[in-house]
Amino acid sequence: MQIKTNNKNNFEILKKKIVGCNKCSRLVKFRKKISTEKRKQYIEETYWGKPITGFGDQNGKILFVGLAPAAHGGTRTGRVFTGDKSSDFLYKCLHKAKISNQSKSEHINDGLKLKKAYITTALKCVPPGDKPEKNELDNCFGFFNSEISSLKNLKIIVALGKIAFDACKYFYKSKHNFTEKINFAHDKIYKLPGDIILVGCYHPSPRNVNTGRINEKKMTNLFKKVLKLA
Ligand code: SF4
Repeated sequence: MQIKTNNKNNFEILKKKIVGCNKCSRLVKFRKKISTEKRKQYIEETYWGKPITGFGDQNGKILFVGLAPAAHGGTRTGRVFTGDKSSDFLYKCLHKAKISNQSKSEHINDGLKLKKAYITTALKCVPPGDKPEKNELDNCFGFFNSEISSLKNLKIIVALGKIAFDACKYFYKSKHNFTEKINFAHDKIYKLPGDIILVGCYHPSPRNVNTGRINEKKMTNLFKKVLKLA
């Protein structure tokens, strides 16, 4: 499945298709469960509770990819990497690297803009335990493929975390006959079909930050390097 997105209008059509998708029954049930049970601190809020689409500069050369929306981040707010601790850290670094216009990503109407970059997830619905099944990834890759195809100037994909990296690898294997064996490493550069560069980057999760695996300086420097490469 690939939906053609050769102009802005088609991109809006793609977004509507993604948001209205109910193809994976396990994930549809799970996103509903999360959105009705809610986390205590957000109990008064209405969760988005649907698949999420990417966001940012469609003419950008850089694509940031996460695995899937977070349960109480993107699934709650309706925008990828928004409203949780991972996004707090990510946007501090993106702002320092001059890729975003502000250092916070709190809600869908907060005025956030990306410069020269787009951000999305390989899978558009949150999976239980952050572990999608193979058929769920396969179901969603048509959307991911369409998003990637719509980014006409795309040069660099930054995979945020090993599972996003593996999803990108699996995507290129299944859609573009990519056969090379590559393993995730932070700040490592790989070549993908179509002259696309893949960059491994630790996920901006509190676990990686709190254990010192990643810090603001390291992450910002990597983003600055990516910007130069683009
Ligand atoms: S993961 Fe993708 S294919 Fe599956 S229901 Fe969500 S949007 Fe649809």
